Amino acid sequence: MLTKPKWIDVSLTLKSNMMHWPSDPPVSIERVRDMDKGDTVNLSKVTMGVHSGTHVDAPVHFIKGAIGVHQILLDSLIGPARVIKISAKDTIKEKELTKHGIKKGERILLRTQNSINKILHRDTFTEDFIYMAEDAAKFLSSRGIKSLGVDYLSVGGYKKNGSNVHRFLLGAGIPVIEGLDLSGALPGNYYMICLPIKILDSDGAPARVILKTTKTFD
Ligand SMILES: [Zn+2]
Repeated sequence: MLTKPKWIDVSLTLKSNMMHWPSDPPVSIERVRDMDKGDTVNLSKVTMGVHSGTHVDAPVHFIKGAIGVHQILLDSLIGPARVIKISAKDTIKEKELTKHGIKKGERILLRTQNSINKILHRDTFTEDFIYMAEDAAKFLSSRGIKSLGVDYLSVGGYKKNGSNVHRFLLGAGIPVIEGLDLSGALPGNYYMICLPIKILDSDGAPARVILKTTKTFD
């Protein structure tokens, strides 16, 4: 059956006390002026780490002196993107990626069991999420992809290989989109718009990420 192309919102909704990386600052969104309390406007104050919810890691997150989020080329985050199905139960390895014919200049989003099990939607942090092995990060860096998206809060594991995995990718100038909710995005080809908030020299920024189907599904 043919379906009309449609936009899929793969961003998490930011809200107070939402699940976050354990050592990161929590998210707090507070109405500091409130019409229900007699103020003339509603006006909110937000406090949070820049790696909260769906966000983009800039090279300077792990590479001293590298570019910040406001300098990431829009072209790396906007354009055709491919959602790839990952079957790994623990770590995403080079061996699993090589069979997908990943080419230079692609925007690659990895849909793992994290999305199937919707662990981004849990109230508490999941320590044993599926993450990228170092050989896979090296492989993608050498392929020269434009950007990489993953479906939990970090491309590397919790208290595991996070530093090395980030260094391989960010060191190659590949921005990483983390915290993507790919539960509703089946593997296939899309057009992606990912716009991190333009924060000067920041190591990361929350982003709205949407995908449009570029082909129809059965
Ligand atoms: Zn991050």
